[in-house]
Amino acid sequence: MHVDVPAKVQEIYAEVLRRNPGEQEFHQAVREVLDSLAVVLGRHGEYAEMKTIERICEPERQIIFRVPWQDDSGEVQINRGFRVEFNSALGPYKGGLRFHPSVNLGIVKFLGFEQVFKNALTGMPIGGGKGGSDFDPKGRSDAEVMRFCQSFMTELYRHIGEYTDVPAGDIGVGAREIGYLFGQYKRITNRYESGVLTGKGLGWGGALVRTEATGYGAAFFAQAMMAAAGDSFDGTRVVISGSGNVAVYGIEKVHQLGGTVVAASDSSGYVVDEKGIDLDVLKQVKEVERGRISDYADRVASASFTEGGSVWDVPCEVAMPSATQNELDGDAARVLARNGCRYVVEGANMPCTPDAVDVFREAGVAFAPGKAANAGGVATSALEMQQNASRDRWSFEHSEAKLQEIMRGIHQRCHETAEDYGSPGDLVLGANVAGFLEVAEAVHAHGLI
Ligand code: NDP
Repeated sequence: MHVDVPAKVQEIYAEVLRRNPGEQEFHQAVREVLDSLAVVLGRHGEYAEMKTIERICEPERQIIFRVPWQDDSGEVQINRGFRVEFNSALGPYKGGLRFHPSVNLGIVKFLGFEQVFKNALTGMPIGGGKGGSDFDPKGRSDAEVMRFCQSFMTELYRHIGEYTDVPAGDIGVGAREIGYLFGQYKRITNRYESGVLTGKGLGWGGALVRTEATGYGAAFFAQAMMAAAGDSFDGTRVVISGSGNVAVYGIEKVHQLGGTVVAASDSSGYVVDEKGIDLDVLKQVKEVERGRISDYADRVASASFTEGGSVWDVPCEVAMPSATQNELDGDAARVLARNGCRYVVEGANMPCTPDAVDVFREAGVAFAPGKAANAGGVATSALEMQQNASRDRWSFEHSEAKLQEIMRGIHQRCHETAEDYGSPGDLVLGANVAGFLEVAEAVHAHGLI
């Protein structure tokens, strides 16, 4: 069958817009993938005939639920919970839960859509999903967070399971929240089903390196990307945005690999520390005290804090946006390029706007999309599931070596696929095409479902 590829891609996108009104982040994520897939439709007419892309753009199941709970003053609070089970062609749905006031269906769908391709790139048997709530844990007591998590799981439990759907953490969901969620799941189901959640505590089914995995993995990906260009982290100046899970462990690994991270941020502003971010202080402020990035500058003499502003004004050779979606726009990208930035590696999901990615392309800045560069987190979650299934426990060194091997493998796959499809060096195209082909083959094999 002859396919007019550009018209087909346009038609698919128009239909996605029509069926999902107002979901800008989801539209943006789909657009980026569709732009890469034209070359695939040219080679694989069967995917056009079987509407494989259209099916992959439609989640298998979307669950929205009420989460009522009581705060410490006794006032009743109502939040909204989401779980979007996007695609299970490669394995059980897998993807994190985000607790942040900005969470809505469009955000969860964009994250779930990205997750499908990311998980495929890891080469592990996991499908894609994502969930969360518009609950804001900031400023809430442990008891409030626990009551919220218990109420959230009281609905979510019926939709998840080690062979069905396996959530993990994301923004606002770390070891504390996973603990409360797991406790409630166990209580309701009367099953110690370790494989139902990942990111668990080390004493009760968690895996070494899961906490570090996304940040470490992004640094390993950057290392592989630089090595392909005959370069290394040695002596480079690096800026990492955010100061959460991904940022903290990204900083740790970049320092171990010989780079110096001179700036980090949170939603209130950024700190610059020309001596390199002191990780002990940062971990104490962010992980132990759950404080603000400005507290870092209060404690470290060589650091200064800028309220608001853009962390991308800080000159660097490597930028790793690791906070949230669309945090780095075209203007910020121009500043980075002008200041001599040579590599941009996304630790967060879709932190660079399409404009920014265009600027990097034109300026010859090497760019790694999050669905490839931050896949270390979910890959290590899959390793946690393997350890749970075999009741085994691997050492830190063994798990980290596996993570590094996986990240090198993802880089190589994206790199080779980009070459194979006529766009050498375009890791966006490489990641989208390689991820899509893996999922599409399985979707195709399962018949029309
Ligand atoms: P955390 O909640 O641990 O940290 C998030 C960080 O980003 C905080 O410093 C936070 O600052 C900042 N941030 C969040 N929202 C905004 C905003 N709207 N504007 C500015 N800063 C903001 O989350 P993670 O580190 O886990 O996640 C960071 C990114 O990485 C997300 O895009 C997530 O989807 C992605 N990711 C995470 C994985 C993981 O394993 N954790 C796996 C793969 C991707 P503040 O405290 O002020 O809100």
